[in-house]
Amino acid sequence: MNRDGARKSVWQQEIKSFAADSYTSRVFDVAIVGGGITGVTTAYNLQKAGKNCVLLDAANIGFGTSGGTTAHLNDFFDTTFGEAISDHGEENARLFKECGRDAMRIIETNVRENAIDCDFEKKSAHLFALDDKQVRQLEDMVKGARNVGHEMNYIDEISFPIPFKKAVEIPNQGQFHPVKYIRALCESFLQSGGVIVEGCVCQDHEETDEQVALSTSGGMVIANHVVYATHTPPGINKLHFMIAPYRSYVMAFTLKDRLYPKELGYDLEDPYHYYRTHEIDGEKLLIAGGEDHKTGQAEDTGERFSKLENYVRAYFDVDQVKYSWSSQYYEPVDGFPYIGVLPGSAGRIFTATGFRGNGMMLGTLSATIIADLILTGSSKYENLFSPSRIKPIAGFADFVKEQTAVAVDFIKDKLFAERVASMAEIGAGEAKVVKHEGEIFAVYKEVSGRLHVLKSTCPHAKCEVRWNGAEISWDCPCHGSRFNVNGRMLTGPSVSGLTRVEKD
Ligand SMILES: Cc1cc2nc3c(=O)[nH]c(=O)nc-3n(C[C@H](O)[C@H](O)[C@H](O)COP(=O)(O)OP(=O)(O)OC[C@H]3O[C@@H](n4cnc5c(N)ncnc54)[C@H](O)[C@@H]3O)c2cc1C
Repeated sequence: MNRDGARKSVWQQEIKSFAADSYTSRVFDVAIVGGGITGVTTAYNLQKAGKNCVLLDAANIGFGTSGGTTAHLNDFFDTTFGEAISDHGEENARLFKECGRDAMRIIETNVRENAIDCDFEKKSAHLFALDDKQVRQLEDMVKGARNVGHEMNYIDEISFPIPFKKAVEIPNQGQFHPVKYIRALCESFLQSGGVIVEGCVCQDHEETDEQVALSTSGGMVIANHVVYATHTPPGINKLHFMIAPYRSYVMAFTLKDRLYPKELGYDLEDPYHYYRTHEIDGEKLLIAGGEDHKTGQAEDTGERFSKLENYVRAYFDVDQVKYSWSSQYYEPVDGFPYIGVLPGSAGRIFTATGFRGNGMMLGTLSATIIADLILTGSSKYENLFSPSRIKPIAGFADFVKEQTAVAVDFIKDKLFAERVASMAEIGAGEAKVVKHEGEIFAVYKEVSGRLHVLKSTCPHAKCEVRWNGAEISWDCPCHGSRFNVNGRMLTGPSVSGLTRVEKD
């Protein structure tokens, strides 16, 4: 397995291993933790600027969300420009608009300068409203966009066979193959002297006036600066209370009529569906996503695929389902990402997270912001995206209420774990959190009858994990840590796995 789930994503065959050099005996200028688009682009930028960098990943390059994304490249975001104006003011919303353009320019330059073969294409995006409520939403979006000078044009036809009430076209968007792109940046990073270490979990850091010492599963790594491109940093940080983990579901289909849409597409449902096409091994695919929910909050994650498939079949002439997978993203409390100095750090440790469904662009931009902060001490986006900003907004109370509900749920989980007298009560192919002789366990029984028994408490903040049948994993609803059935850590912020218990 080389992605953080049991299902194979459409990009996954391109993930390859990078052999590690020695890395514990030297002092690096910068240690970048996390080998997704954010970490890889940051490492690439800094090495190119003459810094000596090490890029560390707990598993392998592309293991996280960058290997499970859909890689639409948009210069408009899940946080609309209208929302940005009302929550952050018009001047900040204008700067927010610029970051999409900057990110697109950076990706285009990287593709061109490195001659990256990653199926990069410029496309338009079609946004369509399916009912009156969505029409009002779309009109608000267009108004907000016009107020900050972002182009959205009303159109009468869309390139999707979906009945709609109103639609807009947004020019100059794009798409690419995310893993081919980051793999090429890794190769360029290595050629300019960078070091990549895979299978290396960063567990903790100690910051002094001169350096940062990173404790990792491979030994101590010393660097002048550290960048956590891991969504959430290891340990307990203020940031964990400002972002919430969500999962989104994606399927790739062949179509009998071969009428593959030319543009990128989005409806305005909540959660919204998103569409694009890509050719894999000479075969054209319609890629559709949606059915998002908060991590650990879906009773039956497998059912999300059935719902998505039924939805797509209702409009498209589906032939076969070729791929289906899910992945995780992070919602920030005030709609803007957190990019900059990690809260609690004296200035040597950086973070980049809270990208919503726009991390290809915001991860790319983070790399420039953080490189600028390390190289020059400032960035034009420094204040806008500062992780230490305090921005009480209307939605804050709801966000806190939602997070509190998760905490209450997790206490209930502890109280109401199902009591079983013996593991024999668990059916084949079933997974349950159970109480047995006063202790709580996460138990999965394979169809063959083989039992996997783990302690069910997440090592990070002691919440109880929940079953994710779609990806055969145990997911923590509090901060999004995930584990496979053997207890191995798939997703942080936990830095260790669930304790495996010998079966009876
Ligand atoms: C289904 C889905 C579709 C999406 N579609 C789009 C889209 O169309 N366009 C768009 O712009 N965005 C999209 N996004 C969002 C985007 O994919 C992500 O925001 C982006 O990939 C995040 O990249 P990253 O590098 O920050 O994190 P990741 O790619 O998740 O990389 C983090 C890495 O950190 C490593 N790591 C974690 N903890 C540690 C540790 N303690 N020590 C060492 N390593 C560690 C992990 O192994 C992982 O490889 C989508 C998200 C989802 C879930």
